[in-house]
Amino acid sequence: MKYAIGIDLGGTSVKGGLVNSQGEIIEQKSIPTISDSQENLKAINSLITDLRKDREIVGVGIGSPGSIDSENGKVLTIGGNLKDWTGIEIKEYVYKNHLDLEIKVENDANCAGLCEMWIGSGKGYKSAVGITLGTGLGGFLFLKNDLIRGDKYRGSELGHTILYPNGRQCNCGQMGCTERYVGGTGLEETYFEVSGIHKSGEEIISSVASDENAKKTIDRFTDDLATSLVTFKNFFDPAIIIIGGGVINSSHVWWDKMITKYQEKINSIDEMPIVKAKYLNSSGIIGAASLILNKNE
Ligand SMILES: [Zn+2]
Repeated sequence: MKYAIGIDLGGTSVKGGLVNSQGEIIEQKSIPTISDSQENLKAINSLITDLRKDREIVGVGIGSPGSIDSENGKVLTIGGNLKDWTGIEIKEYVYKNHLDLEIKVENDANCAGLCEMWIGSGKGYKSAVGITLGTGLGGFLFLKNDLIRGDKYRGSELGHTILYPNGRQCNCGQMGCTERYVGGTGLEETYFEVSGIHKSGEEIISSVASDENAKKTIDRFTDDLATSLVTFKNFFDPAIIIIGGGVINSSHVWWDKMITKYQEKINSIDEMPIVKAKYLNSSGIIGAASLILNKNE
């Protein structure tokens, strides 16, 4: 059995896991993320040292937010709360401290996608569109058994396709991006628009039965998500669409309705499945490790 370490750098913590060639996490550790790039690099390094101990491992895969030059293991651009992360040469830094190991770096949503395609809901499919419903909307594209990264590693930004021309202002500078409507923050914004009151995503979900404005908000979210899936389906013609991320925990209030709306909106009904992701919390670690494990089979 081969082993690799998978690292998942998120907004709140750096998680690391020792993963075997069947995709099982043998041991896991995490360190809180802080807004200092050098400290975060040190955290990645110490997780690798801690998990490695005296074990034989083939390498380390690292998932990071942002546009990642996966050839050189470098962060090209990033938004959100890791602002000084742009330009960081992750691969070079880690390699200097672990000269005997193969190091690979990939975008975090792509890592989650690789996990789903390897041992999750996408197993056995050659192509997929994946979306991650968190605070925003992340995505991955998988065609002919490989990730689509784009010419400058900025592809598969499905959250920044435009859903409403001249709609809500997005952090990326555009207006009306899909993630301003479909995702945790979008849900809260919609609720505020219909009620004038601030409620958290969880409060909105839990009050659907009793609060008419919460019901309206979920109906809008469901309709917007269905519309987005129609766009992604027509654009990429995937064999399967996989939906993951924290918002999937509330799918009992919107999933069936969303599927019905999708079927009403799409121009051709075919057998393409729309499914939930199998791995929600550990997909980043497993997918990062797969960068190494699946290359060294
Ligand atoms: Zn945007």
